[in-house]
Amino acid sequence: MKIFRTANKIFEFKKLSILENKIIGFVPTMGALHQGHLALVRQAKKESDYCIVSIFVNPKQFNNIDDYNNYPKSIEKDISLLKECNCDILYLPENNDIYGNYQGYKMDFEGLDNVLEGKYRTGHFQGVVDVVYRLFDIIKPDKSYFGIKDYQQLLIIKKMIKQAGFNIEIVECPIVREKSGLAMSSRNMRLSEKQKNNAAKIYEIIRNKKFSIDDNPKQIENQISQEINNIPDLKTEYVIFCEQDSLNQAYQFEKNNGVMLCVAVYCDKVRLIDNFFYVFK
Ligand code: AMP
Repeated sequence: MKIFRTANKIFEFKKLSILENKIIGFVPTMGALHQGHLALVRQAKKESDYCIVSIFVNPKQFNNIDDYNNYPKSIEKDISLLKECNCDILYLPENNDIYGNYQGYKMDFEGLDNVLEGKYRTGHFQGVVDVVYRLFDIIKPDKSYFGIKDYQQLLIIKKMIKQAGFNIEIVECPIVREKSGLAMSSRNMRLSEKQKNNAAKIYEIIRNKKFSIDDNPKQIENQISQEINNIPDLKTEYVIFCEQDSLNQAYQFEKNNGVMLCVAVYCDKVRLIDNFFYVFK
């Protein structure tokens, strides 16, 4: 696996024409890699000739300085995990390589940044778009792989691609979970075993929640929120049913139409997100 620390190194490598007519699959990450990330890398590897992974903890997408400072880092382990997956190139830029000469990308979020994560993490998605635009511009991949775990991010990146005119296929990858059901996340490293067991109840509750099409979504949201808040260490920030494409809040359930439940939950000081898609038959 080659490790490049500057965009120039990537440009030089691309000039060597090794990548001519080759499909480049790209996985952007913030490191502290786990099996969720590696599932994206394996899929990229399967579907493309060259797999490029980036690791960059993007300061612009953190609305909370403590969260940024405490973001887990395990670069040596990340490198060996990526080698095991036969990743071809790791792009490991410094802040200046991304933002030195670049102010960011202005897009029309068409409201997608006002709800859910956008509502509670001001400026988060602008930061995500800024870094992903720059990474796409440097790497110019054919395909890029994103996890459904960050579902709102996925929709925003798809919108950005259309607006910016990038010719990149976005591949959506399912949520990888621990055996306990807890959605894998780099932030889980900051949880004790006991807290992880408690946090695993989030998925158990949302997956097993029984309700019918005639129920009022708001009431079900409140019940789910209460059930989660009854678990030690857990405190919900939001529990919201929304339409799958627009993320507009669902005020009623509809037959043959799926509905997405999105949750953000603090486990002690660690903020976790998860989601679950329900279909009424
Ligand atoms: P991050 O390093 O948190 O920025 O995540 C990098 C990519 O990995 C994003 O596309 C995430 O959605 C994806 N990802 C993170 N956790 C998981 C997971 N548990 N399952 C699937 N994809 C994930």
